Amino acid sequence: MAIEECVIDDVTWVRKPGTTTTIDELRAALEQIARWSPDWDLIHWNPWDFEELDEHHGFDKATWEALQIRDGWRKKGQRRRRIDIEAEMARDKARHEREWAAKEARWAKAAKRYDQERHDARLAMLEDQMSLRRTEEELAGFRDGSRFPRHPHRDEEIAKLEKERARWLSSVAELSAKVGDPETVLDKRGHLPAERRAMNLLTFRFDREREVKELRAEIAQLDDQIKAAGKPRDSKLTARRSYLAMRLDVLLRIPPLKPEDMCADCTRPLLLHGWRLSPDGQDYCIAWPRNRAHRKEAYEMFQEMVRQNQEREKREKERAVEASKAKLPAPQPLATFGPNVAASTVMRKLAAIQEKHPGAKLKSRTNGFEVWPSAKEQAATERAAIRAQVER
Ligand SMILES: [Zn+2]
Repeated sequence: MAIEECVIDDVTWVRKPGTTTTIDELRAALEQIARWSPDWDLIHWNPWDFEELDEHHGFDKATWEALQIRDGWRKKGQRRRRIDIEAEMARDKARHEREWAAKEARWAKAAKRYDQERHDARLAMLEDQMSLRRTEEELAGFRDGSRFPRHPHRDEEIAKLEKERARWLSSVAELSAKVGDPETVLDKRGHLPAERRAMNLLTFRFDREREVKELRAEIAQLDDQIKAAGKPRDSKLTARRSYLAMRLDVLLRIPPLKPEDMCADCTRPLLLHGWRLSPDGQDYCIAWPRNRAHRKEAYEMFQEMVRQNQEREKREKERAVEASKAKLPAPQPLATFGPNVAASTVMRKLAAIQEKHPGAKLKSRTNGFEVWPSAKEQAATERAAIRAQVER
């Protein structure tokens, strides 16, 4: 057997029985382990780029192999420290529960100081600050000529924007006097904006991860459909694909975020709040009052449109049913018997009818009688005839 012991960086390593790795291999392995410093922020943010880690128990391939080599050796004089994992987990759990209970008690106390007027003023102020920024950007664009340089009413536009700017400035000033320090404004649950940002970041991270997976799956499915449909391309499919690709691109471009990069009032990052819809995917926050009112209005309009469509469809269907009813031929009896018909003929024919039309009824008529299907059967026949006509 080769050397059983070696010293690396003042540590004596002893070869475990059965180990065949060399000292040089151990040295290289220790260097690899020391070198491994993954960017956990990035790994948590874009887990799809690090699937290799899952295959090696959370390590990259080289480090995982280095760990196998190191495990063939032990440090001299070191006793294996026994870790009671269950006890450690129970301690962690108890600590988390204590901390959470303390937080909840603090929030419950803080919630009593909730001031709705100040809370709402903060949201209105944030919205007006965004509108002010937008107006200022447009104004700067008109002034330096980067925006609509040949606009026929350039001066009028500038005057209009200046007026708008003055309006936003004064409303922001008025609201910020009411709000004071916006970071101290509690919500109903007693949460401060900074606390909400931390929670919103977690939600956003998981939502983004799920959405990226879903979008990729749907895009792959659309690609298959587009390919299968051949040429000319189905414009509906390609339009849907480019919309999804745009949304995916917006999500993938977002770098790892910190709590301060988040909106405190919804689960979206601040960089997605703004007026650049495409390709930046920005919009106003759903918590902002003017935007909330617009969305409510748009939603109600949409609902009304759906209701009107449904009503029109219902009326059209009713009309079609009426029209086809008028076109139906008059109902006919299943059989007609004249006077003096032989009893045996009647019995034979009735037996045959009875078999096919169990509820059939007799109706007398001058000089004989008729056999009719039951009312239920007649109605069903009529319904089927109408359906066949309406669907044709
Ligand atoms: Zn928001």
